[in-house]
Amino acid sequence: MSQESPITEPVIYHGKKFIVLSDWDGTITTQDSNDFVTDTYGMGLPDRVALNQSVRKGQDNFRDAFRKMLVSVVENGKVEGKVTHTFEFCKNAVANNIKVDDTFKAFYEFCAANDIPVVVVSSGMAPIIRAVLHKHLASLDGIQIISNEVKTYDDGSWEIQYRHPESGFGHDKSKAIAPYTSMQPAPIVFFFGDGVSDLSAARGATCLFVKYKPNGENELMEYCIINKIKHRLFQSFEEAQGLMKLIIFAETEEERQSIIAREWPEVA
Ligand SMILES: [Mg+2]
Repeated sequence: MSQESPITEPVIYHGKKFIVLSDWDGTITTQDSNDFVTDTYGMGLPDRVALNQSVRKGQDNFRDAFRKMLVSVVENGKVEGKVTHTFEFCKNAVANNIKVDDTFKAFYEFCAANDIPVVVVSSGMAPIIRAVLHKHLASLDGIQIISNEVKTYDDGSWEIQYRHPESGFGHDKSKAIAPYTSMQPAPIVFFFGDGVSDLSAARGATCLFVKYKPNGENELMEYCIINKIKHRLFQSFEEAQGLMKLIIFAETEEERQSIIAREWPEVA
């Protein structure tokens, strides 16, 4: 027997002037929860980094590499054939170890007060995201999450259930942005991200914020530079909020466009 969570179609917000879509792991959280689970309970950091490199070089895709990482978590925890790294176990470990950017709550409240929907767009699994949210940001329990789901089995094993199994991303985030960019008039889309899973969405944003990583590992930034995609680094949601205010409260459309052009210059 298996239990499959339904993958529901996202709610689309109509008639908004602005919308925020944000990656979860490493962008809203300070550490990637899937990296944490893989490094701690699965194949370990060196093998994970090697897989990530093969994705970057185009030898593997994100969907298959990520699946291998999660399979290693289940396999690694087998004791005499019994699964110890169950989904519940991993979910609780993540909720107890992963922290969120402490400026995100105020940012979310600022957006809510200004009629700006905030949507989490993640390549992770919804129940894990919900568990972290519930532990650290319970007041945000109602936030929309567009992500993958999970399939659990009676023997305790589990596997990721991709939203877009036909895509090499598993969850093609550009599909979350597309309904907004095709609206007439289209809202300004603020997208926040940090990594490989955000590559497909990067081109669709009006204003792309890329999370600054002090360790220098910033795959989304590198991708934007190579592909000349306008972007802007940010360190906290407080900083991003300051910049968004200039755009949201601009007095004229002309002023708004000139602020965007100034703050998101062409990539040389
Ligand atoms: Mg991320």
